[in-house]
Amino acid sequence: MIYLDNNSTTPMDPLILKGIYSLFHDSYGNPSSTHSYGQEAKKRLLKETAEIGAFFGVKREEVIFTSGATEGLNLVMRGLFSHSSKASQHLLTSSLEHEAVFQTAKVLEKEGVEVTYLAPLKGEGAITAAAVLAAIRPDTRLIALMWANNETGALTSIEEIAEIALKRQIPLLVDGVALVGKDPFVLPLGVSAFCFSGHKIHTQKGIGVTILRKSLSLTPLITGGPQQLGKRGGTENLPGIAAIAMALQGLKADGEHYIAKIRYLRDLFEGKLLSALEGVKIHAPRKRVSNTSNLFFAGVNGESLLIALDREGVAASHGAACSSGALEPSRVLQMMGCSREEAAGSVRFSLSRMTTEEEIHEACRIVIHTVNHLRSLIK
Ligand code: PLP
Repeated sequence: MIYLDNNSTTPMDPLILKGIYSLFHDSYGNPSSTHSYGQEAKKRLLKETAEIGAFFGVKREEVIFTSGATEGLNLVMRGLFSHSSKASQHLLTSSLEHEAVFQTAKVLEKEGVEVTYLAPLKGEGAITAAAVLAAIRPDTRLIALMWANNETGALTSIEEIAEIALKRQIPLLVDGVALVGKDPFVLPLGVSAFCFSGHKIHTQKGIGVTILRKSLSLTPLITGGPQQLGKRGGTENLPGIAAIAMALQGLKADGEHYIAKIRYLRDLFEGKLLSALEGVKIHAPRKRVSNTSNLFFAGVNGESLLIALDREGVAASHGAACSSGALEPSRVLQMMGCSREEAAGSVRFSLSRMTTEEEIHEACRIVIHTVNHLRSLIK
């Protein structure tokens, strides 16, 4: 089976798995315990946290661990708006966001927050700084945007938006899930909070990081013990934290090489399909991360194609993992200007640093054969 659904989740890196084994088996102490097991765990926790902070250029105290990006995004969005009366408070976000932000914005809206959902320019899957600037209001409490889109890979110019946010003193929350490991970046000063999930960069599930600048004051989402400076209660997931630190170390050392390889393979994949098949459209925004290829195959039903590909040995998806299974065509593609039919007929292939060139050649052979076969059935 060829796995091309890495924007949904990635296989765990065997070296990371090996690296964290001792945390389950020997060094399993609770960092809050005073005995030597606990103290050993605490030492390791502080070390790993500092390393993760260093990757993003922030202090250890600005790194919060959550169960994943969904929790981190909820922590910032709900934590910020729970401070005072929600009436006459404004949230600026977009219609391209992952459900983790989009549905949370909908809940806040029901609670009285006024929400603006920015739309992308036609054909582009990203939000412009000009659109953000035009939509800011005197009562805007938060700007929440994704850096890279998980369905198309489109990159929003967070650097420019961060400058605006900094100048206007408005907190900017960035969903970095589809960016980390797929494109090089430096966290701008104007980004007040940044969330991502470990399982998208080859760690286990159940661990996420939220970078929370000291200047941002939030009501915690999960109350409990005094862990994580009271910002997120509960015993820390040390194996998960150590796994993220290892994954980021790998990116620091070899990230450029990984990204170049992934981009080469993605472009090879698209090039081969375009030259062998007619009626293929790439949903290719101008600026796109290295690993994502969202393709429309004219005359083929997307759902049938996914099922047939799975049978033939290629795992791909419609877009957001959470919404595949539901037949509603992608909101993101429709916002970019695609018709419902085009959105429904589109399939996302996403690569990782573990994808090989042999897999790409074989995947192309299977996709070409399957699309031709499905097209022949409707002639
Ligand atoms: N944001 C984006 C862009 C995503 O792709 C995802 C998951 O697919 C999330 C947020 C939520 O991440 P998780 O499901 O790991 O909490």
